[in-house]
Amino acid sequence: MTDRTDDALVAYFSMEIGLDPNMPTYAGGLGVLAGDTIRSAADLEIPMVAVTLLHRRGYFHQWLDEQGWQREEPVAWPINDFCKPVPQRVTVDIENRTVHVAAWQFCVRGESGGETSVYLLDTDLPENQPWDRTLTDQLYGDGDSYRLCQEVVLGIGGYRLLRALGYSHIRRFHMNEGHAALLVLALLEEKLASRSYEQGVPADLIDAVREQCVFTTHTPVPAGHDQFPPDLAQRVLGDRRCAWLRACGHDQSVNMTELALHGSRFVNGVAMKHGEVSHNLFPGYPIHSITNGVHAVTWAAPSFQTLYDRYLPDWRRDHLSLRYAIKISAQEIWGAHSTAKQTLVDYVNRETNAGLDRDVLTIGFARRAAAYKRGTLIFHDIERLAAIAQRGGPLQIIFSGKAHPRDQDGKTLIHRIHELRDALRGTIRVAYLTNYDMTLAKLLCAGVDVWLNTPLPPMEASGTSGMKAAVNGVPSLSVLDGWWIEGHVEDVTGWSIGDRVESCMEPSGSMDACHAAALYDKLEQKVMPCFYKDREGFVEIMRQAIALNGGFFNTQRMMTQYLHNAYRLVGEYVRRG
Ligand SMILES: *Cc1c(COP(=O)(O)O)cnc(C)c1O
Repeated sequence: MTDRTDDALVAYFSMEIGLDPNMPTYAGGLGVLAGDTIRSAADLEIPMVAVTLLHRRGYFHQWLDEQGWQREEPVAWPINDFCKPVPQRVTVDIENRTVHVAAWQFCVRGESGGETSVYLLDTDLPENQPWDRTLTDQLYGDGDSYRLCQEVVLGIGGYRLLRALGYSHIRRFHMNEGHAALLVLALLEEKLASRSYEQGVPADLIDAVREQCVFTTHTPVPAGHDQFPPDLAQRVLGDRRCAWLRACGHDQSVNMTELALHGSRFVNGVAMKHGEVSHNLFPGYPIHSITNGVHAVTWAAPSFQTLYDRYLPDWRRDHLSLRYAIKISAQEIWGAHSTAKQTLVDYVNRETNAGLDRDVLTIGFARRAAAYKRGTLIFHDIERLAAIAQRGGPLQIIFSGKAHPRDQDGKTLIHRIHELRDALRGTIRVAYLTNYDMTLAKLLCAGVDVWLNTPLPPMEASGTSGMKAAVNGVPSLSVLDGWWIEGHVEDVTGWSIGDRVESCMEPSGSMDACHAAALYDKLEQKVMPCFYKDREGFVEIMRQAIALNGGFFNTQRMMTQYLHNAYRLVGEYVRRG
């Protein structure tokens, strides 16, 4: 592997990164987005390096019992098969102890041969205390204290590691969500040390740090932002750092989002609406929008890859050429879809014995089992759903998703889907796949006929699984939230649930009932007749989903926007090219 430490201009920090489907180093959309970001950076040969934690025990293996109650087990994964250790070591101070940090290198190869290195930090070293050795084991593990210590390893340890590796030309530090915000402290500390200030932080130093930092926020609700009580921060970070934090305006609890906002020159939300919502949450800061995307080559099913290779020969290097899918024949699109659907149906039947039928309209819903995503919304009125399926169907539904180990509501949701599956037996076939991961996401997003999305607005900052579906010509049936506000053209790229963003906001009646009714109406009046009685019309929607949404909601377009608007290194990048 070529060593390109001199070239990296951008360092990307993320608590989770989905690098390989067989590395359990991610929990959900945030990590998958980080992986797609780096894959596109490698394709575009953007001089970038990335830092994350190793997560030795992985984001858990999911077991579901007959009733759908989830149990978790650590994942044993062969680190050496994917990564190689680097000789450099650094240390960080945590609770007045010295914690040693090692790292593993993972190499992402781009379409034109470019390479992007990712360093996975590891504290499982004999010189560390037993508890410190566990700090890079679990993604979103137990307790505030564990979390804050992990964030020290990521933000401060990660920065020091890049320095130890010899990265000396980094111009921009990109924090993917607030977990990496302590990077701001690391940068500040370095500047302070070189100027040997003892008290307070001069404003020009904070300005200098800010000039280097870019922050992407992903959470539209206050409760989702990382926050730590002052005594914990004092204990973990020590007096000196807490004094610096006070200089950044943190008198009470330490809020990682605020630290990142304070320390960054460019801040963005992950969809147009999310940028606006974030600005209302943090009115003091200008917040831009760069809408998420997906790495098209990663998410296109084999049958669509073959089709695109034939019709759009540049698509692997140039995702925007998916726009030219308008020239692919309906028959070929349907053929590629049928292949992807057959693969999925075979898999589901083998795994769950659900007896799915490849000719039946198949709805997919797979994502983290978080309450706001409302996985059971489609079952709000199962009599009505069953009646619709009998009149205009048949219909079958495939679910998948893990609940966070401490999310009791999420676990109950999975259990509830199993109960409803049994209640609907004989009317609608329902399958639940365990261990939702990137491999399953790829199978599901490509193999169903319609991708269902029912978040409680405005909770879905962006959402990306519908974009993966679009790359495979699968239209979305979705509440108008997150990316779908931008991606939705009724009867062209899919269908909305509710006409306007505000349509179910009236104080009378619950939003669930309102959205469920809108979902049933759309299913009965539009989706089912279109699928069963107007196949040509349905395939036309598939084609537009690829051209309009696949062509735009990809990480190549997204990275170009980061280059132009956030990193602002285009001139430099071209000169070095
Ligand atoms: C894409 C993906 C997600 C994110 O899906 P959303 O629609 O944003 O909820 C979560 N988990 C996995 C495994 C994925 O591949």
